[in-house]
Amino acid sequence: MLQASLIMETIKLYDKEFILSIPPARIQEAVARIAKEITSDMAGETPLFISILNGSFMFTSDLLKNIGMNCQVSFVRLSSYQEVSSTGKVTEIIGLNEDIKGRSVIILEDIVDTGNTLENFTGQLKLHNPGKVRIATLLLKPAVFSGNIRLDYVGMEVPDDFIVGYGLDYNGLGRNFEGIYKIIN
Ligand code: 5GP
Ligand code: MG
Repeated sequence: MLQASLIMETIKLYDKEFILSIPPARIQEAVARIAKEITSDMAGETPLFISILNGSFMFTSDLLKNIGMNCQVSFVRLSSYQEVSSTGKVTEIIGLNEDIKGRSVIILEDIVDTGNTLENFTGQLKLHNPGKVRIATLLLKPAVFSGNIRLDYVGMEVPDDFIVGYGLDYNGLGRNFEGIYKIIN
């Protein structure tokens, strides 16, 4: 028999304590709502979801379980490096094996903070001449967001606190928890 998983009220990662901020049920509601919106917006298409690792793995898994139409999924990583030029930080997409030319693509991100990561990413992606490009992020920190990109699907807005859980980590720990936890003090 499946056992309901234990929802911890607080967790400790290294020297830091975190308190439950978004319980699993609220996350699942947001995920299901995004899935519904995507399903109606993409009717008749076979979209390609591009999931940005590592943080988005849990969001991606739960979201896709709520998508009833045919779709594909690809997992990518971003490598940032300083280019010796005035352009500063350049992001390279690693692991994009599909030909995305002309395809409807939905980028899946765990959290958007400043928006720099996604702005970089969509810039790189457009070099591959995709069709429609949509962005779905589970979380958004509106107080910090200054990106020049449109976020088509946003699960929840969150304050500018450092959070972990549901894929998000603190130095590698915390990704496994079903809820989202915010740092105490
Ligand atoms: P941005 O480029 O939008 O400023 O940052 C986005 C990335 O920063 C996210 O993909 C995530 O990896 C990381 N990030 C932003 N805020 C948080 C947070 O509160 N907790 C964790 N664990 N990562 C965050
Ligand atoms: Mg991320």
